[in-house]
Amino acid sequence: MINKADYALADTVMMKKRHACQANDWEILRLGADIRLKCMGCGHIMLMSRADFNQRLKKVLIKQDDLTARRSQHYVPVSEIAQPN
Ligand SMILES: [Zn+2]
Repeated sequence: MINKADYALADTVMMKKRHACQANDWEILRLGADIRLKCMGCGHIMLMSRADFNQRLKKVLIKQDDLTARRSQHYVPVSEIAQPN
């Protein structure tokens, strides 16, 4: 079982509220003061503060090293996410 707070870049997470497209799995594309999420249902990108994210997060669905994550057409592998030095 994955701890709710144990999220990392490129993990797929479930939020308390699903997206307008009815999907409820989001990839974490950026982890900083702000969190950038990408909807795995439609590819929509959303930005929110880390405080907002912590409140809205329901659980971590798929860790980034789990190959199931890569089955989504919208998923970006961690190696392809630009990371600041
Ligand atoms: Zn969506």
